[in-house]
Amino acid sequence: MTNVFNPPARTLMGPGPSDVNPRILSALARPTIGHLDPQFVAMMDEVKSMLQYAFQTKNALTLPVSAPGSAGMEACFVNLLEPGDKAIVCQNGVFGGRMKENVERCGATAILVQDDWGKPVDPAKLAQALADNPDAKVVAFVHAETSTGVRSDAATLCKLAAENNCLSIVDAVTSVGGIEVAIDAWGADAVYSGTQKCLSCVPGISPVSFSERAIAAIKNRTTKVQSWFLDMELVMGYWGQNTQRAYHHTAPVNTLYALHESLLILEQEGLEAAWARHDLNHKALAAGLEAMGLSFVVDEEYRLPQLNVVTIPDGIDEAAIRQSLLQDYNLEIGAGLGPLAGKVWRIGLMGYACNQTNVLFCLASLEQVLREQGADIVAGSGQSAARAYYQSQQ
Ligand SMILES: *Cc1c(COP(=O)(O)O)cnc(C)c1O
Repeated sequence: MTNVFNPPARTLMGPGPSDVNPRILSALARPTIGHLDPQFVAMMDEVKSMLQYAFQTKNALTLPVSAPGSAGMEACFVNLLEPGDKAIVCQNGVFGGRMKENVERCGATAILVQDDWGKPVDPAKLAQALADNPDAKVVAFVHAETSTGVRSDAATLCKLAAENNCLSIVDAVTSVGGIEVAIDAWGADAVYSGTQKCLSCVPGISPVSFSERAIAAIKNRTTKVQSWFLDMELVMGYWGQNTQRAYHHTAPVNTLYALHESLLILEQEGLEAAWARHDLNHKALAAGLEAMGLSFVVDEEYRLPQLNVVTIPDGIDEAAIRQSLLQDYNLEIGAGLGPLAGKVWRIGLMGYACNQTNVLFCLASLEQVLREQGADIVAGSGQSAARAYYQSQQ
């Protein structure tokens, strides 16, 4: 006999999904109404304007794609690229690799600008690639690389793209809500995010935003977008400003209630306050981890507060540590990916999960399991350093 599925109550401090605010979980349970119901349409408009706030943009084409962050990524590439186009992809981790894959599946050519995992995208390398490829149409990069915990300089990279007559595609999946995203100030053309990282909403929705320049490029296409579902001209007819909305697909009604609630929570806290909270808790966690002898992969000035990537000490069975944290503490932290697999842990401090209680809990439990495996750590050192940091900031 199959039973009701009752998930355990975990603390999610990995690369996503992050802990979902209970206010958002209860929003999900509100009654489903029709996706063309006037009240639902009014809520869609509020979601759009709250997304403009979160993205800091006036772009009219700002809306949630009804699928996870990966679909937002695909929406940007399939709409802006046509077969035969050229795109420069900056790769410094897992997600840049997926961008390249998207470019090629559009029948376009990808020019790779590569930086080491754990380093930000080097603007000088991008400038060189732009000079070498004057026919490039698009520049794509990841603002917050979740596989390595590094932040790249989005303002500079978008400016370089615009100066060279390229459209910029920016992955802001992990950034929105955790660090500043400023689409208009950057002059970014196509930006996508996700609900399950610092927005602390359930997974499955991808907010996107397109500039006027990007819309003009979409309207000037000579070929149809190869994806019917992600074709922005069709999606616009459904999410557009005009009151006559054309049926395109059935919106995930309750998931959009959840997104509405999560954006409302962000608006009530305020963007600056949310970024400051991520910064404070990150610095306390970093003080604690470093006091325990763990070292960060990323140089301090490029670290993402919402994703802390630290090297695993020699002689430690890293998978056993994660398993013990999950089983005994209901605490999830992330493993390394690609060249960092088996070498690092990725500790998320995203959205609702980014608080002092979780920082102290994570340090205490990690210290205990590491000491049980024989790590040479002074008992209480991590927590003491983190508490001292919090006290210094009061
Ligand atoms: C999580 C993530 C994605 C993909 O989002 P999904 O919701 O898992 O599809 C894309 N880019 C980055 C940087 C991410 O962290």
